[in-house]
Amino acid sequence: MAELIAKNPAEPEYHQAVHEVVESLDHFLSEHPKYKHARILERIVEPERIIIFRVPWVDDKGMMRVNRGYRIEMNSAIGPYKGGLRFHPTVNMGILKFLAFEQVFKNSLTTLPMGGGKGGSDFDPKGKSDNEVMHFCQSFMTELHRHIGANTDIPAGDIGVGGREIGYLFGQYKRIANEFTGVLTGKGLNWGGSLIRPEATGYGNVYFAQEMLKTRGEDIKGKTVLVSGSGNVAQFTVEKVNQLGGKVLTLSDSSGYIYDPDGIDNEKLKYVMYLKNNKRGRIKEYADKYGVKYEEGKRPWAEKAQIALPSATQNEINKEEAQLLVSNGCICVSEGANMPSTPEAIEVFLDKGILYGPGKAANAGGVAVSGLEMTQNSMRLNWTAEEVDKRLHLIMQSIHATCCKYGRKSDDYVNYVDGANIGGFVKVADAMMAQGAV
Ligand code: GLU
Repeated sequence: MAELIAKNPAEPEYHQAVHEVVESLDHFLSEHPKYKHARILERIVEPERIIIFRVPWVDDKGMMRVNRGYRIEMNSAIGPYKGGLRFHPTVNMGILKFLAFEQVFKNSLTTLPMGGGKGGSDFDPKGKSDNEVMHFCQSFMTELHRHIGANTDIPAGDIGVGGREIGYLFGQYKRIANEFTGVLTGKGLNWGGSLIRPEATGYGNVYFAQEMLKTRGEDIKGKTVLVSGSGNVAQFTVEKVNQLGGKVLTLSDSSGYIYDPDGIDNEKLKYVMYLKNNKRGRIKEYADKYGVKYEEGKRPWAEKAQIALPSATQNEINKEEAQLLVSNGCICVSEGANMPSTPEAIEVFLDKGILYGPGKAANAGGVAVSGLEMTQNSMRLNWTAEEVDKRLHLIMQSIHATCCKYGRKSDDYVNYVDGANIGGFVKVADAMMAQGAV
């Protein structure tokens, strides 16, 4: 860790993500010294390649703007680099390295042949017109196109990058490369996209929570649920919880959260989708429309519920919030976002012995269906929604089984953090060993 911090200064989120994995692997590596001798840990924390580039664009007033673009190609031991693009003002090298690092383990867990990568920009889509977003995306892809490809590196969406942005990025790629190919995932349905890709992260997280609950003879039906965020992941999390008979009480955005004691039913969810995906407004408007509580500048974790599905962003649950969740009767936390719990919060969940599913296992459904989109693109055919959903469900069950295999402790408690980190590591490490000095 000291070496890593010295070599990657001022990147606290990256240090945090690596530290968690190193802790999980400690005992396992002592039992399997071949990985130590091959210096796998030292190699796996060093990105294979990092691309940084200037993204100049002209806004609606004719003003020249400039942002910074990145692509971190972290690990290609088991397949081409795969992972999303994040457009958000907080994007920097440390954030993207943590996300790329997590992606390597997550993608390995999916059972599909995908390496890990991540990219994005400090561009803030908030308040920008469609036209400005398009010009930014075109400029971003004008540089990125030379580094990616359907068999090299396949970006997708993340925070700030949804169907609209993938469309503009794909259009520009196609013009420059002069080929129609599966170089991005999360595409629209009539131009190479997969059914269930928009739903996949949220649905997958709920399937994972279901598997965890099953180990204790529990079920989502009749349970109260806190969801944070209100973007793609949060929206389809609510949809699946509703289908399974649970009741979602909260949603949030960066300004605050809403609390609806009657539950966010499908009709209200439709409004949230319109509000966030079309009107691009604030979640406060939900409280105004339905006359429910809105807490400005706060996160929903002080509310009482049995399940928590954090689906906003990194480090959104701290130690005090974790303690509140548990003392209020929360028995299951399953992460739709990437690294939403701080290390201190995770410690609380594990100490108290509740069901805790870390993002790299629980939210892998999104990238898993991206993998299925790549398969369909290669075969030049489309599967039905039922077919994709069935495969997603099987993949989430398989990830759960892997976590149990590597994370079960002597008292039978499943530490899903260790399970996911060791399970994700073994496949990548074995591939790196087989491939020599890579
Ligand atoms: N951004 C998503 C993630 O964190 C999806 C990546 C993808 O589909 O490639 O896994």
